[in-house]
Amino acid sequence: MSDENNQKTAEKHEFSAEVGRLLDLVVHALYSDREIFLRELVANAADATDKRRFEALTDSALSLPENASIRINPDKSQKELTISDDGVGMTHDELAQNLGTIARSGTRAFGEKLNAAKPEDRPNLIGQFGVGFYAAFMVANRVDVTSRKAGAEDAWTWSSDGKGAFTLTPASRSTPGTDIVLHMKDDAEEFLDSWRLRSIIRKWADHVSWPITLRETKE
Ligand code: ADP
Ligand code: MG
Repeated sequence: MSDENNQKTAEKHEFSAEVGRLLDLVVHALYSDREIFLRELVANAADATDKRRFEALTDSALSLPENASIRINPDKSQKELTISDDGVGMTHDELAQNLGTIARSGTRAFGEKLNAAKPEDRPNLIGQFGVGFYAAFMVANRVDVTSRKAGAEDAWTWSSDGKGAFTLTPASRSTPGTDIVLHMKDDAEEFLDSWRLRSIIRKWADHVSWPITLRETKE
């Protein structure tokens, strides 16, 4: 899609004020624990895959592919890390709702807990407070989420630099599921090395019940 075209079709939305504060907190307070972004994104991919399996129990049209998996693809030349799943996916409205607002109003409590917590306890706090997705902005200066809801034909890309607004643009995806593309910060390129990614997966995502495949780093 050309830029011109993109501008015509992209809808711009502002983050809620609460999301803005939360993003700041996550990005700045947890710098030394940055590697947990991958735990959070893999956990979301696994949750979405579980959810699709559950929904398929009552609607076989939503059935998972037999080889359902979570795929992690680093690309050094593009400085991109992509996390893909075959999960339930999100509609246009779910992308806006789930990634642009916070249903629970836990920001202040989260901030207080985060400040009080010992550094080693901080990574767990992010997960507990359900702000996991925003951990992506610790390592990425732009995040593109392309998703197709199981049972739907259309796909959408949610895109944001984490600084106040996001866009939604029509996209296409051949099967249901979600791709999260992280455009990595210059100081986060270590997370494009397969060995580094493998050790993070071993440490944080060993118990995940879906196969995780890590593609060798594309130079
Ligand atoms: P939590 O996982 O605690 O709900 P997150 O910030 O990690 O909080 O994610 C917010 C929401 O975004 C999830 O609850 C889910 O609805 C949606 N989401 C995130 N990642 C995915 C994904 N890969 N597939 C489908 N939905 C997702
Ligand atoms: Mg989560």
